[in-house]
Amino acid sequence: MKFTLALTTLTSVSAFTASSFVGQNLASVPVSKSALDMKYKVAVVGGGPAGACAAEIFAQEKGIDTVLFERKLDNAKPCGGAIPLCMVGEFDLPESVVDRKVRRMNLISPKGVEVDIGETLKPDEYIGMTRREILDGYLRDRAIDYGAEIVNGLVTSIDIPADHKVSENQYTINYQAYEEGSSAGTPKNMKVDLIVGADGANSRVAKAMDAGQYNFAIAFQERIKIPDDKMKFYEEMAEMYVGDDVSPDFYGWVFPKYDHVGVGTGTVVNRPAIKQYQKAIRDRAGDKIAGGKIIKVEAHPIPEHYRPRRVQGRIALVGDAAGYVTKCSGEGIYFAAKSGRMAAEEIVKLMKNGSVLPTQADIERTYLKKYDNLYGPTYTVLDLLQKVFYVNNGAREAFVELCNSKYVQQVTFDSYLYKRVQGNNPLDDLKLLGETIGCLIKGYADAKPDAEFSNPVESQKRI
Ligand SMILES: Cc1cc2nc3c(=O)[nH]c(=O)nc-3n(C[C@H](O)[C@H](O)[C@H](O)COP(=O)(O)OP(=O)(O)OC[C@H]3O[C@@H](n4cnc5c(N)ncnc54)[C@H](O)[C@@H]3O)c2cc1C
Repeated sequence: MKFTLALTTLTSVSAFTASSFVGQNLASVPVSKSALDMKYKVAVVGGGPAGACAAEIFAQEKGIDTVLFERKLDNAKPCGGAIPLCMVGEFDLPESVVDRKVRRMNLISPKGVEVDIGETLKPDEYIGMTRREILDGYLRDRAIDYGAEIVNGLVTSIDIPADHKVSENQYTINYQAYEEGSSAGTPKNMKVDLIVGADGANSRVAKAMDAGQYNFAIAFQERIKIPDDKMKFYEEMAEMYVGDDVSPDFYGWVFPKYDHVGVGTGTVVNRPAIKQYQKAIRDRAGDKIAGGKIIKVEAHPIPEHYRPRRVQGRIALVGDAAGYVTKCSGEGIYFAAKSGRMAAEEIVKLMKNGSVLPTQADIERTYLKKYDNLYGPTYTVLDLLQKVFYVNNGAREAFVELCNSKYVQQVTFDSYLYKRVQGNNPLDDLKLLGETIGCLIKGYADAKPDAEFSNPVESQKRI
């Protein structure tokens, strides 16, 4: 009950001040800083979409001190940068954050069959293409404007009291502080009352709290500046390539950015071959990106599922640190922002104007339950779709053929753009089931077999 303590201390400071310093200049009165500084302190580790959106909510609660740790303030997170339309509205993003509005999607099968899947979109609907350095910078600056204290530092470890689940003992965050203009860090530490771990797939917070492991894909992307006439083709167009050549369990993409395209792919089951898959996606895009200059090469893990433990004591994970990326599409930006915001909103409510600290059970009962109820079905459906359609070339051919259906396009876009698992037309669903089986039979019959590869360590060691 820090608020009460603070009030009591303040009252006694005032009484002491009044009796002892009558007639003195008030500015010189030695008011104890600690007495005025009794707010609970929340640390958000990581200033990507998850961390920035969490910090923004905490910062608006004046009864809480919010500190946002980010190791690199101009970080360009390796990422395709595609965001759903609903994120623009829900997170009040300005037009300047969206580089390109994609209204057409070209889906290309292993045999080279192409399906254009933008027709069902309404004129004002689009997939937003962003550069992460712009999007993250915008969200982080907004959190700072709301009052979050930014620390440019790399969190290296966290000292967690053994009794943190039953006491209010503070956590100690150890970090390397980077002063402006210097790349050498200075070791520092800070005591805090609650931690939100938003530090991505290689989360140190997750490690410190023993959150457990998840499977992960390695995703690779090259940013390629292509000639202007070729860029015209990608103005409102994104491409998705499927096939065992570009990935044994994911897809390759060409996404348009401000003045270049992002070309990439990912895999879980054969990570050592990622560069071979990257070459294949470049080859498949062929003429469309010919003459392009690679301006940036980037790679990063993508989590495949939740961590076994997402809350421990007063430490909660959000975004990639928690494992909130959907299978099939590899989408994580929206879920990072949403989970950061949701966790912070629930914790702020629990903290009652900064007067109490929540327990692990409180955070699980609110944030985790709400998040899982809202998005659990989406993760399950997309996991199932990946298992059915990305397993071999036959299934991939069937997937592309199915996407010819306007009904499939409509449902897919509505689910992606608005993040709703659609309540659909039962008759169309039945028809779709029949078409799916038909396409699978046909796809399996005439697809080229997948190339064999042997990587038993990674492909079989699934958690
Ligand atoms: C190649 C690739 C393509 C992708 N394409 C898409 C896409 O098109 N659309 C989509 O929705 N998702 C995509 N994703 C997934 C998406 O990038 C992630 O889901 C998303 O970035 C998660 O956001 P986050 O805030 O949780 O974590 P991150 O974006 O990883 O942010 C973590 C932040 O924490 C900071 N940090 C990390 N460790 C520390 C530390 N110890 N101390 C201080 N700061 C730290 C980092 O600098 C970073 O700013 C892609 C991923 C990859 C790898």
